[in-house]
Amino acid sequence: MTALAKIVHTAPEIEAEPDLTDGFHLVIDALKLNEIETIYGVPGIPITDLGRMAQASGMRVVSFRHEQHAGNAAAIAGFLTQKPGICLTVSAPGFLNGLTALANATTNCFPMILISGSSEREIVDLQQGDYEEMDQLAIAKPLCKAAFRVLHAADIGIGIARAIRAACSGRPGGVYLDLPAKLFSQVMEAEAGQKSLVKVIDPAPAQRPAPEAITRALDVLKSARRPLIVLGKGAAYAQADEAIRALVETSGIPYVPMSMAKGLLPDTHPLSAGAARSTALKDSDVVLLVGARLNWLLSHGKGKSWGEPGSTKFIQIDIEPREMDSNVEIVAPVVGDIASCVQALLDGMGQGWQQPPADWIDTLRTKREANIAKMAPKLMSNASPMTFHAALGALRTIVKERPDAILVNEGANTLDLARGIIDMYQPRKRLDVGTWGIMGIGMGFAVAAAIETGKPVLCVEGDSAFGFSGMEIETICRYGLPVCIVVFNNNGIYRGTDADPTGRDPATTVFVKDSRYDKMIEAFGGDGYHVTSPDELTRAVNAAMDSGRPSLVNAVIDPAAGSESGNIGSLNPQSGIKKKK
Ligand code: ADP
Ligand code: MG
Repeated sequence: MTALAKIVHTAPEIEAEPDLTDGFHLVIDALKLNEIETIYGVPGIPITDLGRMAQASGMRVVSFRHEQHAGNAAAIAGFLTQKPGICLTVSAPGFLNGLTALANATTNCFPMILISGSSEREIVDLQQGDYEEMDQLAIAKPLCKAAFRVLHAADIGIGIARAIRAACSGRPGGVYLDLPAKLFSQVMEAEAGQKSLVKVIDPAPAQRPAPEAITRALDVLKSARRPLIVLGKGAAYAQADEAIRALVETSGIPYVPMSMAKGLLPDTHPLSAGAARSTALKDSDVVLLVGARLNWLLSHGKGKSWGEPGSTKFIQIDIEPREMDSNVEIVAPVVGDIASCVQALLDGMGQGWQQPPADWIDTLRTKREANIAKMAPKLMSNASPMTFHAALGALRTIVKERPDAILVNEGANTLDLARGIIDMYQPRKRLDVGTWGIMGIGMGFAVAAAIETGKPVLCVEGDSAFGFSGMEIETICRYGLPVCIVVFNNNGIYRGTDADPTGRDPATTVFVKDSRYDKMIEAFGGDGYHVTSPDELTRAVNAAMDSGRPSLVNAVIDPAAGSESGNIGSLNPQSGIKKKK
């Protein structure tokens, strides 16, 4: 080599090298710039180092055993904080495992972002059989609110900004962000990289209702003889707690909370018609829906749960204009964000507001007191084995004494009965199966509830429901979370008493009899309790919650106590063939 050639060759090394960044760092920096501090996920190719580096950068990275539960954690983190929860998965199978949670988040209007690594685009698109080959973007698209793919490191900032906006603005929902493996190692100058990041300003802008929509709604409300407010989980999500309380109390209108709106006002509030729900829906003449959809959970606003066809007028507050008239006519649509809409209604009510007729309030109060009195003896039995009612009666007292604990609830009978029996006292303390009635949210929700709020968590789980996410008790133990899981163990789905008519196998709905779920958590260093009476249950749950340690209470429930599909047995198709006598 000549001297000259040598100089030319080494010249770039003598110059100061520019600082470099890469795809990994840009993803982390973009999330942090947007105050996203936690990632829920499962490590593996190609995102293992992303998790490691995120943790090293000070982010909280919570590793699960299965992506579905990480996804559920991200979704409920979104519900609790209004910031999109992040779920991070590997390609194809991990992505698919996360997809159920993404679709469920979208259905429930929870903001979340599923970030999945993916394989080589060139090979995937030519279908040449890459490692974990799958066109993930195409598959995610119909199941979420928006889906994006980033191919260049310089676009990561924009990609994450778009994902955040799509998840949070308007009706919140799930967003998919596809990050091919090659992107992570792409290098660019650090300064240009920093400049490419976007801090999303006002990700969920206020959407103020039109004044004429408010006037129209108030006119309809004023004409009511038997008005009712229905609070949905949109109202809980909106964090407009004071305004919603003021709306109920100023208007004097009784309200029914949907499941996850329980506690927006305490269930013991004098205007709560929760315990008189059937009467309230059937006999009301004007219903103001606040962040609640007229879907199956409200019998689509028609049929036998409601009064004569046309006898109920609906006013609906929702951020999504297309929600209006989705099932029945909405006579006064109020499109906007709940905080703005509720405040505008309050302002419009002014001084001269007339409270609803006293006979309507009395009717509901009488019905409510009668229903509560009818239920009371069932909640007090100390018999062993326990009925669902007696076990839930014990937990009801515990929640009353610990109102800031978060209740996670899933199952069939365990869900339906707990929803009615356990009163809630504070907003966003009840997390459950939501719009789909999905099973398997339990441990994912519990982990995120503990991490996002720092509050103790009580999980009330059917034994079947628990099975979907049970392995995540290892995660709960690993992170030392203050989660107490109560498994309502009735040996099966709905009931533990079914038999295979041929005598060959266990019935399709039963589990191993007398399983000891409490032993599972002991395997990971948590505390197990085994109880057979309400008194024992009370002692165990109080001890577990006082300890703040991961714990599981195996609560033995009478196997004959449950009913088919809980409260929604009518949705189970029956054979059309009549049995011969
Ligand atoms: P529930 O099951 O409790 O009845 P849904 O999930 O059916 O509740 O309804 C929630 C509704 O709340 C959705 O239609 C959604 O568009 C709406 N929503 C969510 N957040 C807001 C908000 N901030 N402002 C207005 N509407 C909202
Ligand atoms: Mg069961």
